[in-house]
Amino acid sequence: MHRKEQKKITIAIDGPAASGKSTTAKLVAQKLGYLHIDTGAMYRALTLKALEKKLDLSDKEKIVSLAQTSTIRLEGENPTTKVFLDGTDITDKIRTPQVNRSVSTVSSYQGVREVMVREQQRIAVHGGVVLEGRDIGTVVLPLAELKIFMVAGVHERVKRRKKDLALCGIEAEEKELIKEIETRDRKDSTRDISPLRKAADAIELDTSNLTIEEQVDFIVARAKKTIHQKETVL
Ligand code: C5P
Repeated sequence: MHRKEQKKITIAIDGPAASGKSTTAKLVAQKLGYLHIDTGAMYRALTLKALEKKLDLSDKEKIVSLAQTSTIRLEGENPTTKVFLDGTDITDKIRTPQVNRSVSTVSSYQGVREVMVREQQRIAVHGGVVLEGRDIGTVVLPLAELKIFMVAGVHERVKRRKKDLALCGIEAEEKELIKEIETRDRKDSTRDISPLRKAADAIELDTSNLTIEEQVDFIVARAKKTIHQKETVL
């Protein structure tokens, strides 16, 4: 019997720092057989390069020119998507405190965002993708069929971040983590270009009291409903 191929939709997941987007998006993508794109990793990769080159991060022209001349690719299968910068695997180098402190400055420049958004839209063009970041539902994929805006209280987010770091053998001060997360959220939400914002048609998902499994199940159920609606209409 000929089975009709399932329609593939695009899913946008946005939210503040450490709101559990990456873990959730990765698992949602796995369950649906979709590609997971961590757009934050792209901004982190560029930031790493700027730091390694010891560039002045406030020099907008230099940073934009760096973005225009760098090749940042996300490659590999879930759950081990790797980040390549100019052909080199830098996956393990982009989550340092120094990158955390600097990435919001690098990502605030329009020229940088143009380069990143173009690449993200190119990857998403055929659907079957879960993109996560800050501006996916508002700017990168304004027509995404399913948009989720994940939120959680800062203390819950810090608790999770601390646990993740502990798994990597890193001990982190709670006070420092709160400061880092709040500062980054403030910068990302108040910048002029593509600030972190819930799209008008996004579903807000407060994960403060949810397990990862519950978050994933919620999004996958919504996705299946959307796919079903799309198949019935077309
Ligand atoms: O998601 P993650 O915390 O790794 O993102 C790192 C940083 O990259 C954010 O704090 C933000 O400055 C920037 N970012 C962005 N737009 C996106 C994704 C991330 O500006 N779509």
